[in-house]
Amino acid sequence: MSDSVRAVQIRDCAIGGPEMVVMAGPCSVESREQIFHAAEVVAASGARFLRGGAFKVRTAPTAFQGLGWDGWKLLREAADAHGLLTVSEILDEAQIDGAKRYVDFAQIGSRNMQNVPLLKALGRSRMPVMLKRGFGCTIDEWIHAAEYVLREGNDAVVMCERGIRTFETATRFTLDVAAVPIARKRLGLPVVVDPSHAAGRREWVECLTLSGVACGADGLLIETHPEPAKAMSDGPQAVVLAEFPALMEKTRRLAEAMGRTIPVSTRAAA
Ligand code: PEP
Ligand code: MN
Repeated sequence: MSDSVRAVQIRDCAIGGPEMVVMAGPCSVESREQIFHAAEVVAASGARFLRGGAFKVRTAPTAFQGLGWDGWKLLREAADAHGLLTVSEILDEAQIDGAKRYVDFAQIGSRNMQNVPLLKALGRSRMPVMLKRGFGCTIDEWIHAAEYVLREGNDAVVMCERGIRTFETATRFTLDVAAVPIARKRLGLPVVVDPSHAAGRREWVECLTLSGVACGADGLLIETHPEPAKAMSDGPQAVVLAEFPALMEKTRRLAEAMGRTIPVSTRAAA
């Protein structure tokens, strides 16, 4: 394994230790059936976190904006039913206090990486934060954004490389694998990889997942959906839920070769 980092503890899960922490689920929470189905399959494949957006930042204002608070309630219920933790994007300072009941790990989206009032507010909140890299931002700018959270006294920060915009159009973004060891070394904090938003198409998610493991990431954030063709956001990049266990099996084998573990399955809550 590459240089060690200070692990971030979120309830019973440490990110940045020997375990490669898998966070998976749909881009957006859409219905009870969809999120419970996703939770069941990702838990049985060893994921520790259920992901699912409830407040979405969409490029177009006419696109689906998420189920809001009802989405967070469903995310929590589905996660609790399957022994998972939750990760979801918080858009606005005003959501933080209410979010604590539903969200264990607060995602700051790529488009909000330089939203300084939000960074500071999440710093003051002491919620564990996953800071996605702005797709037009350098590693330096990303690190400075993390410092805004850290300076408020919140050291539970995990970085997330999710691809940057380059001249390439065959993928949605370009996964900057070198950013993983660089940010780990410079901040001494865990870094996770989101292969889904970088790939933009499910066909390329597997190889980017494996490259995330190979470059020393401490975790993975992967979008998966029971019926991607019907997804209300990011369907083209969603791994088909039925194919998720096989992806995890392959990922686990590489993780083990890299000295990391991925649980075979996450036990359901008692
Ligand atoms: C997401 O995780 O669904 C998302 C919107 O990601 P990003 O902020 O990286 O675009
Ligand atoms: Mn998405």
